[in-house]
Amino acid sequence: MSAEVSLPLQARLIINGEETGASNGRQFARENPANTSETVTVAAEATLDDVRAAIDAAREAFDSNKANWVSDYKLRERVLYTTAQLLRAQTPRLAKVVSLEVGMPMRQAIPHIGAAAGVFEFYAGYCSKLYGESLFLPNGSLITLIKEPVGVVGMITPWNFPLTQTARKVAPALAVGCTLVAKPASYTPASTYELVKLLHEAGLPPGIVNYISGPGSVVGNELVENPKIDKVSFTGETTTGKQILQKASQDLKRVSLELGGKNPFIAFADVDIEAAARSLVFGMYRNAGQACGSTSRLLVQKEIHDTLLSRVVELTQALRVGNPASEETDMGPMISQSQEKTVLEYIKSGLDSGFKLVIGGHKLSGPEYDNGYFVAPTIFDEVDNSSKLAQEEIFGPVLAVTSFTDEAEAIRLANDVTYGLTAAVWSGDPARALRVARQVRAGTVWVWDAYTQPVEGIWGGYKQSGMGRELGPYGIDDFVEIKQIYTDGTGLTMKPAYRQVIRE
Ligand code: NAP
Repeated sequence: MSAEVSLPLQARLIINGEETGASNGRQFARENPANTSETVTVAAEATLDDVRAAIDAAREAFDSNKANWVSDYKLRERVLYTTAQLLRAQTPRLAKVVSLEVGMPMRQAIPHIGAAAGVFEFYAGYCSKLYGESLFLPNGSLITLIKEPVGVVGMITPWNFPLTQTARKVAPALAVGCTLVAKPASYTPASTYELVKLLHEAGLPPGIVNYISGPGSVVGNELVENPKIDKVSFTGETTTGKQILQKASQDLKRVSLELGGKNPFIAFADVDIEAAARSLVFGMYRNAGQACGSTSRLLVQKEIHDTLLSRVVELTQALRVGNPASEETDMGPMISQSQEKTVLEYIKSGLDSGFKLVIGGHKLSGPEYDNGYFVAPTIFDEVDNSSKLAQEEIFGPVLAVTSFTDEAEAIRLANDVTYGLTAAVWSGDPARALRVARQVRAGTVWVWDAYTQPVEGIWGGYKQSGMGRELGPYGIDDFVEIKQIYTDGTGLTMKPAYRQVIRE
């Protein structure tokens, strides 16, 4: 299939299987972050009435077991497998859509589609394996613990990896029989719309997945506040996650949160310099550092500080920043003007703090860059771990380097942030690598790698990086309730416990 798409892309609402515009006709536009003179997407801006209609459709579908969705796991399995096949078959076109909306280089957008397909394949296999547990009590009664879908899920996703972020929620939720309303980030409406269309093409009955786009403060907020939603599954900034958790507590909705990170890459003196440098540069600059798991803090043992840093600088200088559509491009633009501004403000704060700017530190200019939000890959050395640059998630191509003396100091620095999403540990001594991996408080610790996320594993944060886990077997747990069915096996009319209340 060709990678050609005609612009602007149209993203409509999908409510109860019907594509529609917003009820008041309003739309919003998404510009190309690499070339702002180009409009990539025109999307429907849902009204509150539209959101409520989408929620009602999902509620009705769940409560009525529409098309046997909740009970027929074979149907769910077929839909998930077919969606994966469609994603794979349409990879070039979908990668182009993602690349245009996000500014993600095609070299990264293509595997991004494959990763989303992999998530659907993985959870397709789970549809028929939602086993519970049973136990006979000493009195002959049977306790059965069964897993049931949590109900109607409101899904709110970010823009940085739009298809995989959505797939990680949609696929396990559907695998267990939930229905849902999906709201994408306003920067990437077409990417998610395309996925929801594919689900329908794959045989999804109407009303099971409803898609609405529009501002988080209106559309997203309604998913959080509406009592017909049973669970909110959110990925985004920690500050937004905290607001959502507070609001969702009004009716005790189930909530899972995948939030920010400020992730250490710990390199000990006995490390393989070349392997560590490559891993760090990959983990740091993938998607221009706009990645929750990016290895944005290098903690390096003093003895190898100069050698490791100089190799990291060489590799970083070799990155080709530019048009995401080009096969040659390694790093694209920031997602938006405001994100570019934020990144440049962090760079200024690093300079104001007197940290050593090793490379980058500025907006890129020139014919290839002037119409987009391009920031040079940047490295600051001698960064104080208590500074903004080391503590706060920048979400851009800015690496903070801090030296340490010994293992205890490395662990202390690694843990001395409010986040706990990922960490990478590099040492030539496997026993030390394991020891450190145990002591770093993060949801994922890579040993001799960085930023790999197998679907079979898990993803999720300690501390202020979130609550709950996505991917792998635990990715199911966020979408199920456990029910106990207690079946009396005594057959007694007067059971021993009744004597506490009833006299014979
Ligand atoms: P964001 O600003 O928090 O937005 C995320 C989503 O929430 C968007 O769909 C947004 O809609 C919506 N939203 C905003 N305000 C809302 C509100 N008051 N109520 C309900 N929904 C609301 O985050 P982002 O800038 O899109 O994404 C970047 C962040 O995501 C980073 O912090 C990154 O670390 C985090 N992230 C975490 C993971 C992980 O797995 N841990 C993965 C990827 C990204 P609008 O777009 O319309 O504003």
